[in-house]
Amino acid sequence: MKKGKDKDCISERLESVQKNQFISLEDMNEVRMCRPKILLHSCCGPCSTAVVERLSGRFDITIFFYNPNITDKDEYEKRRKTQLDFIEKYNNRINSKDRIAYLEGPYETAIFYTAVKGFEQELEGGKRCIPCFQLRLEKTAETAIISGFDTFGTTLSVSPYKNFELIYKLGMQLGMRYGLTFLGEDFKKQGGYQRSVELSKEYHLYRQHYCGCEFSNTTT
Ligand code: SF4
Repeated sequence: MKKGKDKDCISERLESVQKNQFISLEDMNEVRMCRPKILLHSCCGPCSTAVVERLSGRFDITIFFYNPNITDKDEYEKRRKTQLDFIEKYNNRINSKDRIAYLEGPYETAIFYTAVKGFEQELEGGKRCIPCFQLRLEKTAETAIISGFDTFGTTLSVSPYKNFELIYKLGMQLGMRYGLTFLGEDFKKQGGYQRSVELSKEYHLYRQHYCGCEFSNTTT
């Protein structure tokens, strides 16, 4: 299977680098070819900034925008456009080999409402967020397997309000079920969240003031 082959390829090359203390041009090209393809679920443009920066060079990144939890259609459009805006600006700044691609899932709020039924009164970070994460991660894993990716992940862990242990557990379970590697990194660590704030300013991105579902919008 491609995933296993890539893993062997990377280990062999790393061994060779460790032994020789240097990497030849030929090896460098092979390591580049070994770079896993990740389908990175993104909750929004601002959160994706710091994650893309951190993963750049290690992965071939495709952003997957699948967020049926954003129940207000106008807000959904705003966040979707912000995501596209970031990708365009980012790709204009970097080398062609590190450019990121974009895939979009369907906007299906009915599926979200069904998934969180009974948990409407929960606070952000409570029980409602479990099926919400599950829904978005599962669609990412399904899309990753259909579209030939090795790895999947999510930008959700950038947020200080998101429970990394829960995201990790759900991602690992789905990875086992779909035969994919889940990139279980807590992106808020090492200043990840602060970096996303800085980069959002630098790229002039719209930053929302609530998580996404109507139940998390306390200003209405
Ligand atoms: S608060 Fe955020 S993570 Fe929780 S259910 Fe609503 S949109 Fe999903």
